[in-house]
Amino acid sequence: MIELRGVNKHYGPLHVLKDIDLTVGRGEVVVVIGPSGSGKSTLCRTINRLEAIGSGTISLAGHPLPEEGRELARLRTEVGMVFQSFNLFAHKTVLANVMLAPVKVRRKKKDEAERRARELLERVGLLEQAHKYPAQLSGGQQQRVAIARALAMDPQALLFDEPTSALDPEMISEVLEVMQQLARDGMTMVVVTHEMGFARSAANRVVFMADGRIVEDRSPEEFFTAPRSERAKDFLSKIL
Ligand code: ADP
Ligand code: MG
Repeated sequence: MIELRGVNKHYGPLHVLKDIDLTVGRGEVVVVIGPSGSGKSTLCRTINRLEAIGSGTISLAGHPLPEEGRELARLRTEVGMVFQSFNLFAHKTVLANVMLAPVKVRRKKKDEAERRARELLERVGLLEQAHKYPAQLSGGQQQRVAIARALAMDPQALLFDEPTSALDPEMISEVLEVMQQLARDGMTMVVVTHEMGFARSAANRVVFMADGRIVEDRSPEEFFTAPRSERAKDFLSKIL
């Protein structure tokens, strides 16, 4: 579904992604972990081509991503993204937030977009909040709206960049439960998170990054019980 080959990226003199090879199969859940500054967010943004790359190739469902243009815009809508900060439109209701992109970008009819939006809000447990504005919701609820909004585009894959890091502890589990359910439903997901419980129960693979490189790419059982690299051992000793 997602394939990166030899991807390199620089910010000025800073080499942030170094020879990244990563394959995410259809229905696979890949958790990306690693120290702050290791390139996890940059990796997410490059998969979606929110950032240009210096060299290498990125393919979605077998189609190489072009550098720019209409085809890139189309392929980009195939990959949904959920950020740490929910990025909802503050002046629009929950329902309007979820309907917006399908109507504007996909030119879906309003009644059809609304029907689908209600279905998705039900799925994330927020149908009763459809008429509210983001500020009237808790952080956990806002993040679940953000997930529904991403799903409204019927993406082939979803990227999550630390979706629970900005949440109060008691709200983390309601968001992780929605993500667990998506994983069980077969959604292809790349999830940057330090929630090791989620990694253990939902991930097919754990990718450990350090200094812009993928240092380990293994099953959660193998990674957590017997990390191979010193960097991973050191990292795990600090967070577990
Ligand atoms: P992570 O998400 O793992 O914490 P990032 O991908 O955010 O890491 O950042 C990787 C490196 O790239 C860091 O050294 C960061 O300071 C740098 N960086 C990230 N975004 C930019 C940017 N827009 N311009 C310059 N440097 C950046
Ligand atoms: Mg980050």
